[in-house]
Amino acid sequence: MATNSAIEWTEATWNPVVGCTVVSPGCTNCYAMRMAHRLAAMGQPKYAGTTRVSGDRPKWNGVVRVDARSADLPHSWKAGRIIFVNSMSDLFHDKVPVAFVHRIFSTMRATPRHIYQILTKRSDRLDALSAEIDWPKNVWMGVSVENKDYLHRVDDLRNCGAFVKFLSLEPLLGPLDQIDLSGIDWVIAGGESGPGARPIDPSWVRDIRDRCISAGIAFHFKQWGGTNKRRTGRMLDGRTWDEFPKYGDAAAAWPPTDAL
Ligand code: SF4
Repeated sequence: MATNSAIEWTEATWNPVVGCTVVSPGCTNCYAMRMAHRLAAMGQPKYAGTTRVSGDRPKWNGVVRVDARSADLPHSWKAGRIIFVNSMSDLFHDKVPVAFVHRIFSTMRATPRHIYQILTKRSDRLDALSAEIDWPKNVWMGVSVENKDYLHRVDDLRNCGAFVKFLSLEPLLGPLDQIDLSGIDWVIAGGESGPGARPIDPSWVRDIRDRCISAGIAFHFKQWGGTNKRRTGRMLDGRTWDEFPKYGDAAAAWPPTDAL
C-alpha cells in the first residue's frame, strides 16, 4: 500500500489486485502498465510476470493476480483517509474471482473511517455483480469514460447500488456532449500526459464543467496533460477546480480541507 499518492484526487492507494488487460482506447498509454514493469525490474515480486515488452514498450501480458496478503491492510491504517482501490489493476476485471471482490468489499465495510474510491472500465461486470454487493456508504464507485463510444459505462454506474458515484473522464479523447450526468455526484476530467500523449481540446473540458455547474455536480479538473504536464498545468479559465463530492455519513470522520 502506498501513502501520499501523487494522484491529485486521492490520498493513498491500495492494490490487492495487480495486472490487467487493455480494454478500450483510454488504456493505450496505461500508466499502471509502465509502472508495473518498472516495479518488477526493481525486484518487487508482487509485479513480477505481469508485463511483457513489445516494440520497446511494456504491455500487460494478461496475468491478473490477487494479493491476498493485502486484502486486510486498511485495518492497520488507524487514521481515516481517502484510498484509491487498485490503481494498478481493475477490481472488476473478469479474472478477479467474485469471492475476492466480496472480500475487498468486506474490508471496506469493516473500516468506515476510510473512504474508498473504486474506478473501473469493466462496467458490464459492475452491473452484473452490483445486486449481490452489500454497498457500504464509504465506497465511492466510478467508471472511466474517454470518448462517446463508452458512454454506456455511465448507465451501468447509474444502475449500481453505490451511494456515491463518480466519473473519471481521463484521458479525455473526444467531446462528450451527449453525456447524461443524472445520478452522478462527482466528475474528474483531464488530459493524457507522458510519452505519446494524445491532445485534449479545451472546449471538451469547458462543456463538461458547465454541465456540472448547471447540475450542481462537484467538478475536479486534474490536468491539461501533454508531454510536459508541469508546463501545461491545471488552470481552467483562471482557476483550479478541486471540488469533491459530499461525503454523506462518512463526512464527520473525514474532513479534507478542500471538500465542498
Ligand atoms: S483498465 Fe486501467 S489498469 Fe487496466 S489497462 Fe486500462 S487503464 Fe490500465
